[in-house]
Amino acid sequence: MFRGLLLNKTEDGRTDARITEIDEADLPEGDVTVRVAWSTLNYKDALAITGKGPVVRRWPMVPGIDFAGVVETSSHPDYAPGDKVVLNGWGVGEGHWGGLAEKARVKGDWLVPLQAPFSPRDAMAIGTAGYTAMLCVLALERHGLTPDQGDVLVTGAAGGVGSVTVALLAKRGFRVVAMSGRAEETDYLKGLGAAEVITREGYDQPGRPLAKERWAGAVDVVGGHVLANVCAAMKYRGAVAACGLAGGMDLPATVAPFILRGVALLGVDSVMCPRPERLEAWKRLASDLPAETLAALTREIALEDTISAAPKFLSGEIRGRVIVPIA
Ligand code: NDP
Repeated sequence: MFRGLLLNKTEDGRTDARITEIDEADLPEGDVTVRVAWSTLNYKDALAITGKGPVVRRWPMVPGIDFAGVVETSSHPDYAPGDKVVLNGWGVGEGHWGGLAEKARVKGDWLVPLQAPFSPRDAMAIGTAGYTAMLCVLALERHGLTPDQGDVLVTGAAGGVGSVTVALLAKRGFRVVAMSGRAEETDYLKGLGAAEVITREGYDQPGRPLAKERWAGAVDVVGGHVLANVCAAMKYRGAVAACGLAGGMDLPATVAPFILRGVALLGVDSVMCPRPERLEAWKRLASDLPAETLAALTREIALEDTISAAPKFLSGEIRGRVIVPIA
């Protein structure tokens, strides 16, 4: 038996979340069994635990889209007992049991080796949120964005993806403008490297098809009116990396920014992202994310507290990254 967070669907359709003993015989199929050392909470985990979004596709479910730990048994050629590994995405914590438990069994193809110099704790402080932030930065760089082109906007900046994005872009020499609904996080965001912090004013309501050209690049975690207004305020041939829906799934925009200013909307998905790009992202995180910055944006909570912490993601109250020691 091992300890973990288990989600069940109740008869009236609610999600029942509880810490419980789980039978190792019930672990799903996979060729690598991992003793989980650290996991984390992301926005998607919060949707799963609260039942507020259709994240869980099989019941019962161990949530947790991320984990870092040590291989216990393996029949996969790339992994042997004792290897330190990291998992992000691949539907783990959604359709396959995830990281918020002492053990996980997955396909070895989904794992990546722990990237030096990170510890398992560091890897979870980064987590899917931080690795997605890196994918967004890589997408903007592939588009050709360089610091001399002008300001780069990061929305939802005080959250997990936003915080890491601010730090990564600042480290690369970009002038980063952080958009946050929380004025009280201004010092925190400047500490991560933001040159300026702005409110959502003028962005979270319906706007014009085209606005004054302001941003050379942008990373958006919010969607909805915010993303539409960001697109409208991009400079000629600017690019927006869009990865989130914290403010809504819809996109009430016009094609004007795309056809009149050549703006590029770059979709970023971390879940099914091919392995070479994952490895590239982890390598870049190792060189671009200083340990003290990572420490500044990370908070630790116990497994028992994950159930009460989850709703705070959905109300936009979480600062930076939340990690969970497991064993
Ligand atoms: P967090 O909850 O940590 O951060 C989200 C932030 O968005 C909040 O802190 C808040 O920032 C802002 N926000 C929240 N609600 C609203 C709102 N109604 N209107 C405008 N802004 C809002 O979540 P994560 O950083 O973990 O994830 C962010 C988003 O990215 C989520 O939608 C998540 O699903 C998505 N995501 C997508 C991935 C992918 O593969 N595409 C991978 C990882 C995450 P502030 O208070 O500073 O404004």
